[in-house]
Amino acid sequence: MPSINDLNMEGARVLVRVDFNVPLNEDQQITDDSRMQAHIPSLKAILAKGGRPIVMSHLGRPKGGRDPKLSLAHLVDHLKAISGVEVQFINDCIGEEVEIASKNLPENTILLLENLRFHDGETKGDENFAYGLSKNGDFYINDAFGTAHRAHASTAIIANYFSGKKAFGLVMKAEIDNVNKVLNGGQNPITAIVGGAKVSSKISVLENLLPKIDHLVIGGGMAFTFLKAQGASTGNSLVEDDFVEMAAKIMQEAEKQGVKIHLPVDAVIADDFNNSAKRDIVDAKSIPDGWMGLDAGPETISALAPIMEASKTILWNGPMGVFEFENFSAGTKGAADLIAKATSQGAFSLVGGGDSVAAIKKFNMAEQVSYVSTGGGAMLEFLEGKTLPGIAAIQDK
Ligand code: AMP
Repeated sequence: MPSINDLNMEGARVLVRVDFNVPLNEDQQITDDSRMQAHIPSLKAILAKGGRPIVMSHLGRPKGGRDPKLSLAHLVDHLKAISGVEVQFINDCIGEEVEIASKNLPENTILLLENLRFHDGETKGDENFAYGLSKNGDFYINDAFGTAHRAHASTAIIANYFSGKKAFGLVMKAEIDNVNKVLNGGQNPITAIVGGAKVSSKISVLENLLPKIDHLVIGGGMAFTFLKAQGASTGNSLVEDDFVEMAAKIMQEAEKQGVKIHLPVDAVIADDFNNSAKRDIVDAKSIPDGWMGLDAGPETISALAPIMEASKTILWNGPMGVFEFENFSAGTKGAADLIAKATSQGAFSLVGGGDSVAAIKKFNMAEQVSYVSTGGGAMLEFLEGKTLPGIAAIQDK
């Protein structure tokens, strides 16, 4: 895994793909800078090695060319403040002027290029556009894990022009290292908690995880498709009838592979899909007609406690219930508490690839787990066992 430390970049222009896709309010002010903060260590590492960072990113989804509201110019002052160095901005990302600016960049200064997606060649993975970008650097660093599952010009195609002169940034390296701690050589017992809305979006994750884990905890809306496969009454709960057979197959496969599956034993039910709906707690296999399961019940969480306590490696992908509704968040919070406790006792825990990331942040517990992934879609594909184009492009010679 080539990293920044492996390159001799003294005095050289280092083209870095970051993910500065931050949320902006109506006045184009940054409302959450965590995506920018995440890349500061990589930028500082490049500066410390004498490199000159030329930073490229997308911001939002501009349709058909330039959109002043989505200009990276809105990020310049904040980048200056959090990096502690000068930041120059140039209002394009390819062309002669950009190339000249990159060559004239003073020491200890970051050059921020304009939004990559103002050119449609970016998302199309256009060769010519990638070549244009490549002219702005002597080395290429990919630190944008959030877009690593896309074969875009700046995330994958560009790497062809940097044979022997490319590496992963620190965010990318951390994501890859941490996921490998779960998928390749994690300490047993390994427990995966997979929740969220739909089983259809998690089939590949479940299939990929089975040979690698000891316990599979299934929660969230998707649990009801599994419960239905066991003959449960699911009322109005979220059930994907087309996937009941698949759920049964996964349970058989788990048994064959010696993986213990844990389904909810009780459920917090609601008579409507909203926070102030009428509530009750019932056996997870006996949801009355007209009611829907929106959270894991207290017995489910108590039953998980000893499993989590014994686990040495934990992966959490997807919430146990509709945690966005305060009245149906106790199951998800209960799971988070168990993961935090296991982590404090020495287990390695990774939260990623689903809304459990939003949940752990909502509970202010991100510091209590070992690692929270920065890339939703990319982590999900990683957990599915897919090769991510942004990773393969760096590893290819
Ligand atoms: P995912 O992105 O697959 O992790 O799914 C996350 C979404 O699943 C969240 O928005 C939750 O509100 C939703 N969810 C979790 N449990 C349930 C449930 N029992 N019924 C309906 N939606 C659920």
